[in-house]
Amino acid sequence: MTLDSVLSDPAAAPRRPTRGVAVRWGGHVVRVGGDAPVVVQSMTNTDTADPQATALQVRELWQAGSELVRVTVNTPEAAAQVAALRDALDRMNVPVPLVGDFHYNGHKLLTQFPDCAQALSKYRINPGNMGGGKRRDDNFAQMIEVACRHDKPIRIGVNWGSLDHELLARMMDENAARSAPWSANAVMREALVVSAVTNAERAQALGLRGDAIVLSCKVSHVQDLIAVYRELSRRCDYPLHLGLTEAGMGSKGIVASTAALAVLLQQGIGDTIRISLTPEPGGDRSREVVVAQEILQTMGLRAFTPMVVACPGCGRTSSTVFQELAASIQAFLRAQMPVWKTRYPGVENMHVAVMGCVVNGPGESRHADIGISLPGTGEIPSAPVYVDGERTVTLKGDAIAEEFQAIVENYVARRYGQQQGAEPARRPGVVARDIH
Ligand code: SF4
Repeated sequence: MTLDSVLSDPAAAPRRPTRGVAVRWGGHVVRVGGDAPVVVQSMTNTDTADPQATALQVRELWQAGSELVRVTVNTPEAAAQVAALRDALDRMNVPVPLVGDFHYNGHKLLTQFPDCAQALSKYRINPGNMGGGKRRDDNFAQMIEVACRHDKPIRIGVNWGSLDHELLARMMDENAARSAPWSANAVMREALVVSAVTNAERAQALGLRGDAIVLSCKVSHVQDLIAVYRELSRRCDYPLHLGLTEAGMGSKGIVASTAALAVLLQQGIGDTIRISLTPEPGGDRSREVVVAQEILQTMGLRAFTPMVVACPGCGRTSSTVFQELAASIQAFLRAQMPVWKTRYPGVENMHVAVMGCVVNGPGESRHADIGISLPGTGEIPSAPVYVDGERTVTLKGDAIAEEFQAIVENYVARRYGQQQGAEPARRPGVVARDIH
């Protein structure tokens, strides 16, 4: 490593300039692209024909931090319930804009159910599954006409699993005639980009404003996704929706999505992201929102909730106390954010350290806004707490977790609540020690 590489700023490249697209519901506006921060979005997996169940899941995703929520609109029964879904959300004070996901029959549903077209804030159009030939062109034009009439933005969402087969076949033929043909994979990537860009241009030619179009080209392999989006970014200035499609379950889905998106985001590419995790049976759908936020926050691109730094533990710590404390503090901080984000502006940037022993505990704790170093094996059973780099109190006994949580609450109120004159929020039965 050279001195230059140590001194150089490792920050992400400046965001690639894109047109800003406004996605609205009532007075609530989510801006995608332009100078807006990268937007987090998600998608429901309930039956949209059941507006109650879908409203509850949309609320759950929104409360987790999803700034746009996409719902499937696949049948007349689903389309007929979108306005009721919107009403239910409005009654629950959930202003999150809804995006309708259309395939095959979107032109019919948006035309036959104008209440649905109006209640949605954006339409996702997949140009690869709207039929072929003139029928495809007519269906596409019909959807654009509805978008213009209702003044709604669209996402042209190309997906390699449903790529326009006529376009791909034509490009394969053209490739075969080359003196040095590209690989089939390269042609597929080029076809994805061409499909997205030409359909966006076509939508504009049909009358849709240029600042009402977002593009995506989703594939399921990391290197393909990076290659496709780099090229897409080079060829147009529409805002780009990033996502690795069919990312998979658990750690595989998280790792693959993070690997792909982090490379692109670091290069300034991407205006909105969705993490397509397959939930475990009965699993929490909002996990995809948490992962999206954590990607953006750990890269320093946005801040959503205070982050907990915790060591992995090792043979120097034989108890699970610090693991439990790290987990409970992270869950506690996230649970407070719906209230804290308005009451304590800036708290989302706070760093909390929970460390397992004296080796790195005090050092990491000093670097955090607030940190605790728990006793490792053979160490004196006490836990020094550091606030703004200074050692303050030492906790002992069975109530370390409760006392540390109370210290964190008081710190948040004191540091981030001053402008509002807010009082520290104490939980019943927990007495916070004075940390100064
Ligand atoms: S801080 Fe201590 S317990 Fe944690 S990983 Fe390092 S040596 Fe192990």
